[in-house]
Amino acid sequence: MRLKTILNRVQRLHGFVYARVGMLEERGRLIIEAEIRPRAKGRPICSGCNAAGSGYDTLAPRHFKFVPLWGMPVAFVYAMRRVDCPSCGVRVERVPWAEGKNHLTRTYAWFLAGWAKRMSWSDVASAFRTTWENVFRSVEMAVQWGLQHRSLDGIESLGIDELYWSRRHQYLTLVYQIDAGAKRLLWIGKKRTLKTLLGFFRWFGPERSQALRFICSDMWKPYLRVVAKKAGQAIHVLDRFHIASHLSKAIDEVRAKEAKELHARGLQPFLTRTRWLLLKRPENLTPKQEIGLAELLLRSNLRSVRAYLLKEDLQRFWSYVSPYWAGVFLNRWCTRVMRSRLEPMKKVARMLRSHRELILNWFRARGQLSVGVVEGLNGKARVITKRAYGFRTYRAVEVALYHSLGRLPEPDFTHRFC
Ligand SMILES: [Zn+2]
Repeated sequence: MRLKTILNRVQRLHGFVYARVGMLEERGRLIIEAEIRPRAKGRPICSGCNAAGSGYDTLAPRHFKFVPLWGMPVAFVYAMRRVDCPSCGVRVERVPWAEGKNHLTRTYAWFLAGWAKRMSWSDVASAFRTTWENVFRSVEMAVQWGLQHRSLDGIESLGIDELYWSRRHQYLTLVYQIDAGAKRLLWIGKKRTLKTLLGFFRWFGPERSQALRFICSDMWKPYLRVVAKKAGQAIHVLDRFHIASHLSKAIDEVRAKEAKELHARGLQPFLTRTRWLLLKRPENLTPKQEIGLAELLLRSNLRSVRAYLLKEDLQRFWSYVSPYWAGVFLNRWCTRVMRSRLEPMKKVARMLRSHRELILNWFRARGQLSVGVVEGLNGKARVITKRAYGFRTYRAVEVALYHSLGRLPEPDFTHRFC
């Protein structure tokens, strides 16, 4: 079988034909080159207005990288024609296999982008002997196409979360769709200010915003204000996972301070190495940690232990069915905490009190909203930004996040290369 036959099966070129397809050796490496020619009488298409025009001249042959075969690089070789276009003047023609000045064929760019979903961009670059830049640009192309072609119909539930981007020491705001059948990243914005989230709603549009039924977020004030203003009809749920993380921070603060005091008084350091005993869910402890926790709990005079018991007691809150009784429980819990003289815990209780209604929305939305989803998606987003992909720029982070979490559509290919 000839290579030309295969090429005609996997990549037909409308208006063009494969001329000579051959193998040559360059610096000890085998390369496959496929020369392309326009069909006889095929008129060049103007890249400015997409109209067929008459030929003006022909440029020197250019190489376009195609999907490698058996470890051999494959290139299309073609001498671009210039069109004498009545409306645009003299312009380079448009060809079906590549975009603008890109020296990668569209098929090869989709191929690289496909692999970039499965491994890091630098791994893709070295596996296919190309550059990180080429991989980045290919993924960017795939993301652009996907964003243009995705549907934003029927979105009812949103999750809003922040992500700390350590490389630039700044926050990003991520908005997810968290409907039962469709969980994906919808939007990314810089920082986590009023302006950031307003930017989302401006892009999302008033009509879609009015159709939202549930929004899940943290108690972060700018988010609360914008959601109330732009989608006041939606049930705004404060995420259980975020409340737990505020509590964990409070316990950590109590413990760290107490450990320091005990140390200063020359007492045996009970509290060193106890951080995870107090922060983990009891059912997740190892047997050894369980013994450690039991010993620790015997010292009920410790502030850390009292804080821990308060945190564990709040677990019962989530098992209520009725928002009314959950509310009664929450009031009692907050009262106990306010009498505990544990300042970081009191801070959390004050916060829960002032957002009482939004927290009770959790019970009103139960069964209709998959609540753990935001946590899961954000965990993945964190892994992506942390991976050493060489994400120096915001653009690269943005592209990587959309690519992995956006569930973006792809064109229908006549042949799938990966
Ligand atoms: Zn034109």
